[in-house]
Amino acid sequence: MRYDLIVVGSDPAGQKAAVAAAKLNKQVAIIERGAEPTNGTGLLGDVFSSQTLRETILHLTDDQRRDERSITMDDVRRKFAHVAEIEMELNQDQRERHGIDVFSGEARFIDPHRIELTSSFGKGGYQPVPSVEMAQHLSPDGSFELEGEKILIATGTVPTRPNHIPFDGERIINTNEFLSLPHTPKSMIIVGGGPTGMEYGLMLAMLGIEVIIVDGREQLLDSHNREIIDALLYHAHCLGTKFRLGEDVIALNRTNNNLTFAELESGERIVAETALYCAGQIGQTETLNLQAANLEVDERGRLWCNENLQTWQKHIYGVGDVVGFQSQVGPSVDQSQTVVRHAFDEMKTEFRHNSFEGRNTFNANVECHSSNDLPHAREIDNPFEQKGNETSLEMSAAEVELVSTA
Ligand SMILES: Cc1cc2nc3c(=O)[nH]c(=O)nc-3n(C[C@H](O)[C@H](O)[C@H](O)COP(=O)(O)OP(=O)(O)OC[C@H]3O[C@@H](n4cnc5c(N)ncnc54)[C@H](O)[C@@H]3O)c2cc1C
Repeated sequence: MRYDLIVVGSDPAGQKAAVAAAKLNKQVAIIERGAEPTNGTGLLGDVFSSQTLRETILHLTDDQRRDERSITMDDVRRKFAHVAEIEMELNQDQRERHGIDVFSGEARFIDPHRIELTSSFGKGGYQPVPSVEMAQHLSPDGSFELEGEKILIATGTVPTRPNHIPFDGERIINTNEFLSLPHTPKSMIIVGGGPTGMEYGLMLAMLGIEVIIVDGREQLLDSHNREIIDALLYHAHCLGTKFRLGEDVIALNRTNNNLTFAELESGERIVAETALYCAGQIGQTETLNLQAANLEVDERGRLWCNENLQTWQKHIYGVGDVVGFQSQVGPSVDQSQTVVRHAFDEMKTEFRHNSFEGRNTFNANVECHSSNDLPHAREIDNPFEQKGNETSLEMSAAEVELVSTA
């Protein structure tokens, strides 16, 4: 099936781009690996879970009659599911109103304009009512192909999982595993005092969990406004959160009596019931088969883009966390608008979002940003670029080796 725009990933950046393009009467498809095969809802990207978790905890701890320590993980999961359901229905309603097709499955490039859906699709995944035309596109293995005039990669990031950290989903976890904890831990070491570590630290302290945030930097969040950070640290201290700064964690492991310890450079050990590893995100690009589109990523799996958010392939764009710095909802959605304007040559078009059109209520008629807002995935040499009459692939093996290890 052929579309004007195929969007891979349906969390804030992807969803908003799809809606903006549909408003320009473009044929739009979203591919989401997390979509429920039944009705296309259940789109739970990262930010969705962290903001929804914050709403959940605020709601659960708002009840003054209740001691926060009595709040169980089942309470958190139940409330989270309720808030998430409302959010997913809003997004689903928005997609249906704009005639956007949602496909469930893992997106994988076949060539610069064609994408194959694999995995959940094969197992009877979601698709609009199958048409004769669609059935023709089904491959014998049940995978399915879409063709896009323009393609937008909005696949976001996932928490890093370094090999030397023994993640076990119970005592030593990352943010994606928090909701599957069997019970509310009494104490937690948070490795990494960046925005995510601080956010989870304060949320979990509100649940009565004794939190200690460990970070190798002497000062946290030094790229943010100092006054705001001082206020944040003040509230963290009021919630009983402890900090251990200036020393990197060199090891995380379980003790013999089923607790968890973080070993610092000085050899000192910090012990708690659980540990949450929050030291960075990595681009969700591994399964996209980007080589087939003559694209490559930097060492953190992020996609390099130019000021119009175009990749090396001028019809393929990137937005949101997968293209790097600022990694927040607002900038991701702004980038989506910039992409749709540029892709469909609608530079003067204004896209308005109102509260009935989804969770962000801000006027999006922003012009292209100044350079320091541009995506910051590290620029790497393009091994697929034509140089004179020989392709760079004909460059010396050493050169290619250099690029591919970047
Ligand atoms: C713990 C945490 C807390 C945060 N809190 C905030 C906050 O409070 N406020 C804020 O502004 N920002 C916050 N952020 C940042 C925020 O998460 C991002 O900026 C935002 O999610 C970026 O949206 P995105 O659409 O680029 O990516 P994501 O939200 O990561 O969505 C990517 C989507 O692509 C899908 N996908 C990936 N690969 C494929 C594939 N191959 N095929 C099909 N689908 C695929 C994924 O399933 C996912 O749904 C937080 C981040 C984290 C990690």
